[in-house]
Amino acid sequence: MTGLAPYAADPARSRGRQHPESPPEGRDEFQRDRDRIVHCGAFRRLEYKTQVFVNHEGDLFRTRLTHSIEVAQIARTVARRLRLNEDLAEAISLAHDLGHTPFGHAGQDALNHCMQPHGGFEHNLQSLRVVDALEERYGAHDGLNLCFETREGILKHCSTGRAAELGDVGRRFLERTQPSLEAQLANVADEIAYVNHDVDDGLRSGLLSVAQLAEVDLFARHWREAVRQHPSVGERRQVYETVRRMINELVLDLTGETAARIEAAAPASIEAVRAGGPLVAFSEPVAARALRLKRFLFENLYRHYRVVRMTTKAARIVTDLFEAFAADPRLLPAQHRERAGREVHRVIADYIAGMTDRYAIREHRRLFAIDES
Ligand code: MG
Repeated sequence: MTGLAPYAADPARSRGRQHPESPPEGRDEFQRDRDRIVHCGAFRRLEYKTQVFVNHEGDLFRTRLTHSIEVAQIARTVARRLRLNEDLAEAISLAHDLGHTPFGHAGQDALNHCMQPHGGFEHNLQSLRVVDALEERYGAHDGLNLCFETREGILKHCSTGRAAELGDVGRRFLERTQPSLEAQLANVADEIAYVNHDVDDGLRSGLLSVAQLAEVDLFARHWREAVRQHPSVGERRQVYETVRRMINELVLDLTGETAARIEAAAPASIEAVRAGGPLVAFSEPVAARALRLKRFLFENLYRHYRVVRMTTKAARIVTDLFEAFAADPRLLPAQHRERAGREVHRVIADYIAGMTDRYAIREHRRLFAIDES
């Protein structure tokens, strides 16, 4: 790729794949990874997995698929400005939520609770597990056999205990080094995408009000400006105007601050990036503003009683499914039963984590309603 900065990830200098493959034709290694992710089954299931609202609550709410596309859009925009590798930033963004359970964090927490005696469950690790092992699409290997740089970006967090078992991608959690700038960027792009779309979805659902949000400075400033410029277009459009300005402020600040930090640190290579401190960041005042918005969403949206009622049901479904399969693995569909063998609880967790919201609801009905089969 021409114009790539010296500190960007270079597909021609990738640390390679776990199973050696001949080089791609007509595209580079990171483009190939991006394409493999888009064509895999776990990616398509993101369409029917949710973050805050459950899939059947409305057709306009974000799903994990639209969320991932928004993350990729933001990451690519910033990557291009900073001369980072856009394809790698896109691949990481599109893959970052592949390991999520149905029903957002409620599903993940319930599954983690069920898996406590069996090594726990963590969605970042599961995303890596999906691309490394669970996708079955290639004759020569399990998983998608992605490049080290893509896998490094997908594994955003990891406990040191787990990191030790993961080999090359786990090492940075033990050595406390950084991932590539593309990985750091996908991580912050995730945050920009979700705080903004949760404001939008929160308002659309009626769980949040403009009056409440007017007390959060990041929202309030842009809201006042949107209303001043467009006083008579109605609240719906004024909200869109506000959200797009918020995204713009965060993206521009992130780009400017990161460019300044890169200039100051002057990393000569991706190795220097990995050895240094985190470089992709908001400026201090904007980071504080974003944090206040996140806290607001936590208190007022994620803990809203209507969300809690739904997430409690979701957690019960995940727990019921896990307990039923663990008590009698013969209930598992044949393809999962065959894999069960030694690690039956991990296989059950893989099966449940792979479910969409609606599949989990149906499977629960099939297992617990006597008039279903
Ligand atoms: Mg995400």
